[in-house]
Amino acid sequence: MTIGVSKELVWVFSTLSIAVTLGWLWDATHLVLFSYIVFYITRNLLSIQKFERWIREDKLSVDFPSSGLWAEVINLVDNKIRRLSSKLNLQHYNAEQNKEALMRLKDGIVSLDARGKIEWFNWTARKKLKLNTKDIATNIELIVRIPAFIKYLNEDNNPEPLILHVLQGIPGTVSIAIISYYKDHRLIIIKDIHELYNASQIHKDFIANASHELRTPLTVINGYVEVMLDENVKNKWQKPLEQMHNQSARMQSIIDDLLTLSSLESENVAEELAIVDVPELLNIQQETSVQISQDSHKISFDVDENLLINGYIKPLTSIFSNLIYNAISYSPKGGVIIIKWYKTNNSVVFSVEDHGIGITQKHLARVTERFYRVNGARSREGGGTGLGLSIVKYALETHKAKLIVESKYGLGSKFTCKFPVSLAINAETIN
Ligand code: ADP
Repeated sequence: MTIGVSKELVWVFSTLSIAVTLGWLWDATHLVLFSYIVFYITRNLLSIQKFERWIREDKLSVDFPSSGLWAEVINLVDNKIRRLSSKLNLQHYNAEQNKEALMRLKDGIVSLDARGKIEWFNWTARKKLKLNTKDIATNIELIVRIPAFIKYLNEDNNPEPLILHVLQGIPGTVSIAIISYYKDHRLIIIKDIHELYNASQIHKDFIANASHELRTPLTVINGYVEVMLDENVKNKWQKPLEQMHNQSARMQSIIDDLLTLSSLESENVAEELAIVDVPELLNIQQETSVQISQDSHKISFDVDENLLINGYIKPLTSIFSNLIYNAISYSPKGGVIIIKWYKTNNSVVFSVEDHGIGITQKHLARVTERFYRVNGARSREGGGTGLGLSIVKYALETHKAKLIVESKYGLGSKFTCKFPVSLAINAETIN
């Protein structure tokens, strides 16, 4: 453009010089100068008019000034338009490509606007939700009338997917997740997890069935061993019988723990959510903990007597007994154990702190895995099954609660369970 301006200045300067010289020669300087100005303005106005026509017309072939400042302006504008339009073409091409890829995705995708109305969906979503094009701009809640789905849709940032076993009358397990994006828009993502779910269900059922099957023969063996032990005191079979008795008791505990685990895993906790008198449960735990420890630990209970919870009594009992049992098992005689039950602004907390052997950092993340033991021999000696903390983890999940494990090797451990504060009930407000 600067080139255009300087060219224009050179042109003005030279033509003006010629005009001034002619005016001087003809002795009509004013007339020539006036004519020059009129000519210059008219020339520019004509160029602006052509420029305007060029801008207005869709066709690029419209006649436009071929030289001068305006020709340069038009050239620059023209280049810019071409650059922008090729960029737009590329963006459009990319958007089309992305759309096509999303269209063919095996997962179903539905995009909703801020009011929950359908904007777009892919082929899988069309099949899974029985949608068709006339459903665009319809509220999704009018199409998928499943109460669990509607509740899930209206929850904010639920990190867990919703699992449904029938969708729009079609049987099959699907997981549904919702992602919020751009100004309250949402994406519904529907995954078919039928095969995966079936495989894990078969696996869970197998463990539950095998444990059930083993339970009865083991009880019979155990019973006979006990009778034989009673009747064969000081006989040469005394020791083997005692060992058989211990081992079958261990198997019994493992089977019991496996059954507890599979009932916790099977999603539908058999019991109804109910008000649980946790202080009373902890009172019972206090008595049993003295027996387990054989009174050789200093166990203190700091319990908010008015704090009850809306929960499931069996899983809660499993949480309390497993954590207290572990604290006793993994603490030396005389060790201090502090158990607390209290409420904060954000959660209801159950914590068990011991000054026992502690856990090294590298094991910490894995202690809730099934049969994971830091020291297998020590765990077995103390009657551990390696399943206690997995039971705690699942039992907490049924309450949407979290487990925090802090530990320092040689110094002790603290297990903190944080329940949603919404589950808290003040004993004074009932009755
Ligand atoms: P176990 O029946 O072996 O105690 P758990 O699942 O209850 O199984 O615990 C898993 C492992 O975590 C234990 O074997 C033990 O190594 C470690 N652990 C659990 N609680 C404690 C604790 N309070 N102090 C030290 N280690 C612990």
